[in-house]
Amino acid sequence: MAVLRPFGARDSTVPFFKGELMSKSSLIKKADMLFATWFHNHYHECCICGDPEFELMHLIPRTEHLTRWEKLNALPGCAYHHKYSKLLSCHGSPEAFEDWIADNYPEHHYYFITNRHIIGVSLTEDWYRQKIKELQLW
Ligand SMILES: [Zn+2]
Repeated sequence: MAVLRPFGARDSTVPFFKGELMSKSSLIKKADMLFATWFHNHYHECCICGDPEFELMHLIPRTEHLTRWEKLNALPGCAYHHKYSKLLSCHGSPEAFEDWIADNYPEHHYYFITNRHIIGVSLTEDWYRQKIKELQLW
């Protein structure tokens, strides 16, 4: 179990990225870039309609960093199924969307229902660095 430290107080055993900014925002940007690379290598179309133009849909909102870069928290969706459809979309009809995920992506749904209440967790700089290291191995 990692010792919790305030952001910026580092554990010297955690890898340091030479020449990179140490800000939290730069760590988030790097994790986003690595996760997006994995995501676009893994998925090739909207999971609902097959549109080859798609965005990354987070089941638990991306504002929650603890789950932001988890494979089971992300699915590909075209803009219509990500945001706009009032019948079936992540943002436009979340209840129908959740039912659809439960039927079609049960592992993702299980991840969603068991983690969606874990919100507002404050993470250390070391946590972000470990996450980046994990993402680099995908
Ligand atoms: Zn779609």
